[in-house]
Amino acid sequence: MIATVDSSCISCGVCPDICPEAFKIGDDGLAEFYIDSIPDEIQDRAIEAADSCPVNAIQIEK
Ligand code: SF4
Repeated sequence: MIATVDSSCISCGVCPDICPEAFKIGDDGLAEFYIDSIPDEIQDRAIEAADSCPVNAIQIEK
């Protein structure tokens, strides 16, 4: 499972708050998915982060 963040991110900070193991705010001020794949133990929170994004900028791919 991986995630992608598209350019509609508004830098609200929700996704790194919920799942900092997978998401961070990058140098450009936008969120990025910064690991190669989502480990099983954080999948629930990665999905929660995606579901919580106010602009639906995060896509989870299996
Ligand atoms: Fe950007 Fe969405 Fe993450 Fe907020 S939750 S920082 S809008 S990707």
